Amino acid sequence: MVNDFFLRKLKSLKDIPNHAIFVTMDVSSLYTNIDHDEGAEACFRKPEMRKNKTIPSSFLLNLIQTVLKSNIFRFQNKLYRQIKGTAMGTPMAPNYANLFMDCFETDLLHDFYVIHGYKPMTWLRYIDDVFFIWTNGEDSLKLFLDFAQNYSTHKKMKSKIKFEIHQSNETVNFLDVTIIFQDKKLKTTIYSKPTNAHLYLNVKSCHPEHIIKNLCSETPDFMQQANKYLEFFINRGYDSKRLKQQVKEVLMLNRNELLEANVNKNDSKKDPQTIFVTTWHPKLKNIYKIFKENQHIIQNNDYLKNIFPSIPIAAFRRKKSVANYVVRSDILSSHTKVSTGTKPCNKCKKICNMINQDETLSNITNARSMKIVAGGDCHTKNVIYAARCKIHGSLYIGHTGEALKDRVNKHRYDANKRPQNNELATHVSQHNHDFDKDIDFCILKKDITNEKERILYEDKFICQLGTIQPTGLNIDIGSYGHEMYEITQVIQK
Ligand SMILES: [Zn+2]
Ligand SMILES: [Zn+2]
Repeated sequence: MVNDFFLRKLKSLKDIPNHAIFVTMDVSSLYTNIDHDEGAEACFRKPEMRKNKTIPSSFLLNLIQTVLKSNIFRFQNKLYRQIKGTAMGTPMAPNYANLFMDCFETDLLHDFYVIHGYKPMTWLRYIDDVFFIWTNGEDSLKLFLDFAQNYSTHKKMKSKIKFEIHQSNETVNFLDVTIIFQDKKLKTTIYSKPTNAHLYLNVKSCHPEHIIKNLCSETPDFMQQANKYLEFFINRGYDSKRLKQQVKEVLMLNRNELLEANVNKNDSKKDPQTIFVTTWHPKLKNIYKIFKENQHIIQNNDYLKNIFPSIPIAAFRRKKSVANYVVRSDILSSHTKVSTGTKPCNKCKKICNMINQDETLSNITNARSMKIVAGGDCHTKNVIYAARCKIHGSLYIGHTGEALKDRVNKHRYDANKRPQNNELATHVSQHNHDFDKDIDFCILKKDITNEKERILYEDKFICQLGTIQPTGLNIDIGSYGHEMYEITQVIQK
């Protein structure tokens, strides 16, 4: 949205020559195109020009670099670090982009003036959107636009700055205003992009009240635009009587005074008012009245009177919206979203028949269960697996660095030849189970090449499914059981 400064500036422009050309330039994807080093350079160069350097520029630069270089995000379960451009969401992004563009435009305009001897009559920029007036003729403008378009390449910059350019002798659109050149003066009216669906806040939305802003320089035009916008707001559930009343009130205001009013307001910031910050709630509408009515409590106390010399102003934090609750920026891959059970390899046959392909594994003795998402088959190595007795429903959890099928074969050998060697073997032997028919296997986790880590995961699953005797076949958790607490903390995150 354009601000009062821009509107005041346009208003102040007198005697614009008839041959003037009005140009808008919009940097294509500025935020993602600023190179970290070049951005950092701008963030040092500009603050170095301050008079008051109590906070050293090098310290500011350090902070900025920390933000730039620590933008870590997750996509499909992989962590990434952004190495070029800045994240759109960070609060410092607009200031950063602004400092970069400030340096860029200073150098651009300076170099063009030195080489070709021309400069624009007026140059106004809002972050990456530029509006300027050219009065040096069509040919020199073409020269300048080419110069600007190739400037970053020519200067061998790593940031690729390209502009989308529009020019006209009569009218251009800039941000949310249309600028019209008429009678040597500039007039403004509201501009909305053709794609704007005018989906203003629904009246029932949890936001402070707001009014239509006057961007129109001419009264008949304002009436026409106001009527148009009245309809948009009525469609969003606003009360038409109240809206019309507000339009009437706005009409009574003098536009010149409105544009000037804010200038004075900014200058008179002498009395430091305490700002009371809280999350917005519709019931807080009368908060200022509450402050006012209870002012005497503060005024009658010497200590509080010093802290709050005048009635505080309220500032509201936005409440979480429905979107905040339902939209997540982290996109998980289908691999982790859909549970995938263990699959038979369809080659070894013998072990294939012993694969439990279920997507959930349950311990029927304590009703605990978990989703089987690891995937894998008879040949998968470095796994934590669960063996299940189909007769009793008992579970045994183990780990191996070998292929699952080799570990199963060893379990069979134990069951037949040395039942004391292992809890599963003991169970099979005690109950005279047919190992190949009565026992099945599934993989709980794979790709854990470090043995110590496998033991930790084994312990985790033993705890999770509660498979220590008598509610399972495991005798005890592993020797690293004491580290269990820490690893479950890590895994649950
Ligand atoms: Zn197989
Ligand atoms: Zn059994």
